[in-house]
Amino acid sequence: MELSEAQFERYARHLVLDEVGEEGQQKLLAAKVLVVGAGGLGSPVLLYLAAAGIGTLGVIDDDTVDLSNLQRQIVHPTESIGTAKVTSARRTLAQINPEVKVETHQARLTEKNVADIIGAYDLVADGSDNFATRYLLNDACFRLKRPLIGAALSPFDGQLSTFKAYLGPPHPCYRCLFRDAPPPDSVPRCETVGILGAIAGVMGTLQATEVLKEILGIGESLSGTLLVYDALRADFHKIKLPRDPDCPTCGTPR
Ligand SMILES: [Zn+2]
Repeated sequence: MELSEAQFERYARHLVLDEVGEEGQQKLLAAKVLVVGAGGLGSPVLLYLAAAGIGTLGVIDDDTVDLSNLQRQIVHPTESIGTAKVTSARRTLAQINPEVKVETHQARLTEKNVADIIGAYDLVADGSDNFATRYLLNDACFRLKRPLIGAALSPFDGQLSTFKAYLGPPHPCYRCLFRDAPPPDSVPRCETVGILGAIAGVMGTLQATEVLKEILGIGESLSGTLLVYDALRADFHKIKLPRDPDCPTCGTPR
């Protein structure tokens, strides 16, 4: 499909890049990305992916917008309080880029629906805030061979990695890193401990960048590497993530 005149203008700053160009922009326009959670991480991910011209953006969240969300969940305006987050996100994204097809799933990911929902997309960005969803996504993305770009937040820190363990060694999965989920409620969530809102913006924007890199096939993938951001020290560092041959998800069955 040829780019329209309006698309040439809208995406001009992509088109001028050798690493993107018209071919890369076509890849973005053809891509289908699922964003899990329309919260602190999901907001910047959705905003930048819509602006970049991702053709189809899926968003799954079962929550409604609360006044206390607005300090960091920047896809939601004040007038959306009480509205389903997926509906609020779709409205904002339509204003940013009406060309993007936004598919909303007002639901929670479960063992039952995860394969159907993920199966309709090329790539998954995890902006969820709980371990049950994180492990469910890890295992389903491994089975369905979908790249998973996951980020996590603490009050003043963030973590980011890409998981493509279905490619085989040396690529690890999330379970190679942390085999089992910690007991529920043993790890505090943003809602209870708080978070400096802009940190969600930093990590979600990095996550969106990695999604675009994976689709375009440019630069170095974060598969096998954990990127850690320490906001108070203004420091980024990388940790190598080895694949665990005994991993219950991606290890070799004996
Ligand atoms: Zn693994």
